[in-house]
Amino acid sequence: MLHLKNIAKTVVPPLKNSVQNEGVNTMFRIAPAAVNVCCRTYASHEIPDRLKDVPTSANPRFFDMVEYFFHRACQVIEDKLVEDVKSRVSTEEKKKKVAGILKLMQPCDHILEIQFPLKRDSGDYEMILGYRAQHSSHRTPTKGGIRFSTDVTRDEVKALSALMTFKCACVDVPFGGAKAGIKINPKEYSEHELEKITRRFALELAKKGFIGPGVDVPAPDMGTGEREMSWIADTYAKTIGYQDINAHACVTGKPINQGGIHGRVSATGRGVFHGLENFINEANYMSMIGTTPGWGGKTFIVQGFGNVGLHTCRYLVRAGATCIGVIEHDGAIHNPEGIDPKALEDYRIEKGTIVGFPGAQAYEGENMLYEKCDILVPAAVEQVIHKENAHKIQAKIIAEAANGPTTPAADKILIDRNILVIPDLYINAGGVTVSFFEWLKNLNHVSYGRLTFKYERDSNHHLLESVQESLERRFGRVGGRIPVTPSEAFQKRISGASEKDIVHSGLDYTMERSARAIMKTAMKFNLGLDLRTAAYANSIEKIFTTYADAGLAF
Ligand code: NAD
Repeated sequence: MLHLKNIAKTVVPPLKNSVQNEGVNTMFRIAPAAVNVCCRTYASHEIPDRLKDVPTSANPRFFDMVEYFFHRACQVIEDKLVEDVKSRVSTEEKKKKVAGILKLMQPCDHILEIQFPLKRDSGDYEMILGYRAQHSSHRTPTKGGIRFSTDVTRDEVKALSALMTFKCACVDVPFGGAKAGIKINPKEYSEHELEKITRRFALELAKKGFIGPGVDVPAPDMGTGEREMSWIADTYAKTIGYQDINAHACVTGKPINQGGIHGRVSATGRGVFHGLENFINEANYMSMIGTTPGWGGKTFIVQGFGNVGLHTCRYLVRAGATCIGVIEHDGAIHNPEGIDPKALEDYRIEKGTIVGFPGAQAYEGENMLYEKCDILVPAAVEQVIHKENAHKIQAKIIAEAANGPTTPAADKILIDRNILVIPDLYINAGGVTVSFFEWLKNLNHVSYGRLTFKYERDSNHHLLESVQESLERRFGRVGGRIPVTPSEAFQKRISGASEKDIVHSGLDYTMERSARAIMKTAMKFNLGLDLRTAAYANSIEKIFTTYADAGLAF
């Protein structure tokens, strides 16, 4: 086994434009040969036997995948956690405490399985199966989406809830992780049936203490959106939450008129764009994968043209990248000259499919995931990049807009091939970040900017007048007043920030700060391109501190 300290000897000199490592003067990048061995060599932390096959498995369980990634990061961070324990106890005691807290972070705290009957429009009856998993209550409320999909299983919901724990910590959203799933294909139910399913599910969650502004707060995910969130808020507010002034904070992703926030619908896609931008502009990372910084000339392919895929496309095209392919469940299209996301969105709304879109050609190759491009954006389902196909991927960067699209075996193959994987827990965290802003808005009972708009506008006009008066005192008023006109940029901001401005800048700031933190950890532990381990390590450290400072048990 190679020890990290040995790997450190392989560092090469600093690069211009490389990551600014706050507070650490030494800048270095890892030699490509060291990249592949970096994350499995440090500390005494053992990967449990039951997960030993996960890194080589062609088809691991999703929850095992998340656990494996967690343990892989524990191996990197455990010694630091031991060093950081403040109490004056022996090293052995410290190690026990760290091992205890890490153990605490692994399992799901609560899992609820619900079955209820649905009377269909036809008069037939059907049993509906759903789950809610709360992975970690180190912070409350717990938070995570509700998905409607026939692929929903207990394992999937548990895995997604664990991922939410690490995702929230990664971007400093002070929530524990949760997730829900209802095992249905929403396309096979009428709106009336979907409303009955959603409201009944919300009621069952409420009865069991699995929903509430301070307890557990769902959000949209695959197959759900504003409409479903609105039904959930209404059900909660009219039943168990009827005396709770904060009742509408029981769910996020609501329409604006139900307490939603501007920018939530597109937040995950916007976050994917910011996440990519933070790495694409790093000369250091781009040189490691053999490309140049910046968006210009970059091509991308997206899998899944739903909420996340569509908005990611919009922002990437706006930044200057070219969308050369879109993959959906019923077909794929390509156009080397670029696909217009707005035109494709309109076409899909009208036809219900992307197939036949006149702005592109039907794709007839093996699988568009394997086509050459700079950025591949899986934005549909989990485990699409696995042991059997990872060697076929030709993209230089993979932006994991979907949750869990890459298995551990594939992750290793991709890192070995110098492909930069920007991991799900960071890059698709825009949704939960803006959900956090929505929750805060609901608790404040006032929209962002409402109290300060007029004051800021008046203050800015006073400022301009003050400048004008100063100039006139100095130069006189000969020929009339000296004009002081705001610049175009200042004019746009003169009235203060709108809610949308605040949400956008808050999201941008969050993604940038977290990217810096991931890069810093990747450098500190010589992780090379293994950003996933760096992101998990950061999350583990934050969750650890929460537990360590609060005490472990009653
Ligand atoms: P969505 O239901 O709006 O869109 C999913 C799209 O993927 C649909 O258009 C569907 O037809 C397509 N699809 C399904 N299976 C496919 C397949 N095998 N190949 C190609 N396309 C397929 O869902 P969404 O909200 O965009 O979520 C997509 C992914 O992003 C999920 O993994 C979800 O967990 C993750 N995510 C979503 C959010 C959010 O805010 N909605 C936040 C974080 C992560």
